Amino acid sequence: MESKGGDEIQVSVFLLDTQGCVSSWNEGAKRLMGYESREVLGQHTSKFYLSDDAETEKCEYGLKRVVHDGIFEEQGWRVRKDGSRFWASVVITTLRSRDGNLTGFTEVIQDMTKRREVEDSLRAAQGGLERRVIERTLELESANDALTQSEQYQRFLADSGEILASSHSFPEVLQSISDLAVPMLADWCVIEMLEEDTELYAAAVSHHDSYSLRCLKRFYKEHTYDRNARQGSWDVIKSGKARLYREISDSLLGEIAKGPEHLSLLKRLQSKSMMISPFWANGKVIGAITFAFSDSDRRYSSFNLSIAQDLGRRTGNAIERSRLYQKLEAQTAELQCAVQVRDEFLSIASHELRTPLTPLKLQLQSILKCLEKGTLPNLAPEKVQRIVHISDKAINRLTHLVEDLLDVSRITAGKLKLNCEDVDLSEVIHEVVDRYFSEISLARCRVFIDARGPLLGHWDRLRLEQVVTNLLTNAIKFSPGKDIILSAAEVRGSVRFTVQDYGIGIDAADVDRVFRRFERVGSDQNVGGLGLGLYITRQIVSAHGGVIQVESKMGEGSSFTVELPFRVGVSEYTA
Ligand code: ADP
Repeated sequence: MESKGGDEIQVSVFLLDTQGCVSSWNEGAKRLMGYESREVLGQHTSKFYLSDDAETEKCEYGLKRVVHDGIFEEQGWRVRKDGSRFWASVVITTLRSRDGNLTGFTEVIQDMTKRREVEDSLRAAQGGLERRVIERTLELESANDALTQSEQYQRFLADSGEILASSHSFPEVLQSISDLAVPMLADWCVIEMLEEDTELYAAAVSHHDSYSLRCLKRFYKEHTYDRNARQGSWDVIKSGKARLYREISDSLLGEIAKGPEHLSLLKRLQSKSMMISPFWANGKVIGAITFAFSDSDRRYSSFNLSIAQDLGRRTGNAIERSRLYQKLEAQTAELQCAVQVRDEFLSIASHELRTPLTPLKLQLQSILKCLEKGTLPNLAPEKVQRIVHISDKAINRLTHLVEDLLDVSRITAGKLKLNCEDVDLSEVIHEVVDRYFSEISLARCRVFIDARGPLLGHWDRLRLEQVVTNLLTNAIKFSPGKDIILSAAEVRGSVRFTVQDYGIGIDAADVDRVFRRFERVGSDQNVGGLGLGLYITRQIVSAHGGVIQVESKMGEGSSFTVELPFRVGVSEYTA
């Protein structure tokens, strides 16, 4: 039999008796199966089945179905005489006598092997095509994802750039950066900063879930961290290298955790992937940013890590800038303050210097007038004495002011020199009080000295006089009409000298300022002075290795106490 296309279609038709044994065999059956009729007549049709089919009684089952249904059709493997297999389409039908008794079966077997091969290869080709379509679709999808992700990251970096360049304080900047990272770059994010090189604190914490955020914040607030951890932020800070934990196993979680509480927190947060990047300022690691994926099931890649590192680098730069800016602001404020103090000082100085010049000028003018009129010889001696006294006082005042200014420039230039010799402090106190007798009387003060000498020390006499003078003249200035007590005694191997007055006192808020340069405090600004006396006094005292302190109460008076060692470390001291 020939097919239309020329391919031979092999069909075998043969008869079986009621037991399923071959009862008739024809040429077609011989061609297909390879058996001569004498070889198969009387043989059971199961002969043409695979040996495995015998176990399942496949053939018997087919014959039972034919008896029941009148026809049985199947496709399956059959075996030729030479043992080769072929894919067969089998149709078995019953043969019955007129009265309906079963007389046998007709079995038609057609070789479908070629067709099956074509179908298989078609199916395989189709399968391959489908697989390739799926693969390509996946490739396109992941390329699209990567593109979208890269676009998102670019937007993220641009947004973070804006935040980092903003003029907000850096704690605000860090919080904004951490908030920006969630949820795009992380399910939660923590920015830790190094404090004094030994402590880590969480400067910013973000989580997409508010309950977990509270847990994170509480944890970072309440716990200190193990500096020696081999993983986690301390490791990143100490090594200066970013870390990527693509997949976090339980054991790794244990190493990253900063302790048992941190471990249970990390477990509760279900952190599955993590990356930590350090950030620098002035070439020093100053903190670390931790990004973590938890419930979103995402994983970090080296691409993500490069973004984290980039962000870390730019965060460090921004912090550095912000710190410099703050420093600059503080310096500007300090400079503005210094300029203000200088301006005030200049106006005070010009006023103070002019004050003694006025009486001096008046006295000289009165003498000039007498000279012009020729009445100078007639001037009463008391009048002349008064003119000389007033002029002398004015010159003394001027000399004192100029000396103070010169002392300040000496101190600033480090050129305050001590010429030490044996000095009796008790003697110095008495001499200075005597020198200021008229000022004391003019101010209606009563001065008491409790300094039974000798109190011998190795000091610079003139500078010591200056200390006593400054403290006494201040007491006179700020406690008119009141008592002043100067006491000196040896206390525990040094000498303690105190000037106590009962005058206006100093406000507690101003006490620290009185020893600074150009500082004049309190309400009584009518009392003259350059605000230098106590500054110079303190410099002289500390040049002698001593200290000066003040105790004061507004309206109740002040007590300045100087403590001096009996001997300066070296006989000549340069401050
Ligand atoms: P000055 O050289 O102008 O006298 P000081 O440096 O000696 O300035 O004093 C600084 C400021 O300290 C004074 O302007 C005054 O306000 C305050 N002060 C100093 N001594 C006393 C005192 N005994 N009682 C109250 N205030 C004082």
